[in-house]
Amino acid sequence: MTDQSFETLAIHAGQAADPATGAVVPPIHQVSTYKQDHVGGLRGGYEYSRSANPTRTALEENLAALEHGRRGLAFASGMAAEDCLLRTLLRPGDHVVIPNDAYGGTFRLFSRVVERWGVEWSVADTSDPAAVRAALRDRTKAIWVETPSNPLLGITDIEAVADVARTAGARLVVDNTFASPYLQQPLALGADVVVHSTTKYMGGHSDVVGGALVTGDDELGEELAYHQNAMGAVAGPFDAWLVLRGIKTLAVRMDRHCANAARIAELLTGHQSVTEVYYPGLPGHAGHETAAKQMRAFGGMVSFRVTGGEEAAVRVCDRARLFTLGESLGGVESLIEHPGRMTHASAAGSALQVPADLVRLSVGIESVDDLLTDLTEALS
Ligand SMILES: *Cc1c(COP(=O)(O)O)cnc(C)c1O
Repeated sequence: MTDQSFETLAIHAGQAADPATGAVVPPIHQVSTYKQDHVGGLRGGYEYSRSANPTRTALEENLAALEHGRRGLAFASGMAAEDCLLRTLLRPGDHVVIPNDAYGGTFRLFSRVVERWGVEWSVADTSDPAAVRAALRDRTKAIWVETPSNPLLGITDIEAVADVARTAGARLVVDNTFASPYLQQPLALGADVVVHSTTKYMGGHSDVVGGALVTGDDELGEELAYHQNAMGAVAGPFDAWLVLRGIKTLAVRMDRHCANAARIAELLTGHQSVTEVYYPGLPGHAGHETAAKQMRAFGGMVSFRVTGGEEAAVRVCDRARLFTLGESLGGVESLIEHPGRMTHASAAGSALQVPADLVRLSVGIESVDDLLTDLTEALS
């Protein structure tokens, strides 16, 4: 099965027709417990739905196939997946290197929650492998990377940082939410674990919150599965089903997200009210060559800075009509937001603070002409 191409796996991996009825889509097994034929006589290993549920199993097998991993695990949210991973990997006194433009929730998890359990962390510019190496300590157990990053679309060379991690005996974790496995497969580039908020491109329709972990290491996969069951923040059957349905169209959606985002980045680059555009597809972007090497295309996220400072940036967000003002990303509908006051408000005053005149777009799959018109009007 794993010889098949991404588009085929997205539709079929983990989703053989239902043996009982032939249903071509995995049923939503909305159930908590399973009849045993005799004590310990489980049918297909199902005992209790926190431990395993057939709809979730279908998603977990699908995720493993798409990331070319050996074990996929589905959670109630991206943050639940991150929490499970950190509590599996780390002990008091351990240290983690995190990126200087991490997702705000990831930063909050380290700085406000995990730190209280005696885990140390420090911030590095992961787009510079030498800076990551310089941040290592004796007890560095993990290096955390997001590429492209949020909201500045920074690019980290996954292979180069995987080398740093290997020599340090640390695990390399890549949050692949912005790229999706269609555009980038970190395990093949040397990462140990991939993290997803399936809420975003994987679900793709702004109708579900979910998370995932995928690893190529069987032993780590077992440990993560043990903690997933022990801690219990699993994806419910209906949520797992929604993510599975979203993934079937991931490839075609991403193609359109990328094409639309490239056109919008082009419009913004020449615009008189825009001082800087952050899109890895632009030849002038600092990470352009690395992105071209490790990604199939450059993604659907575009950020930009405007003349006139914070007030002007907020005004652009308020004036957009087709771009919906809202947090989150990766859905079919275009979104616009002001990171400084919205998604990244919790990073204010920290090393992760974002520019006040920054606007972030999650470019959807509507007609690009309508999107260009809306942005032009919002900027005028
Ligand atoms: C949204 C997001 C998360 C957190 O996922 P939730 O599903 O909201 O818990 C983590 N990382 C990135 C890059 C995200 O965009």
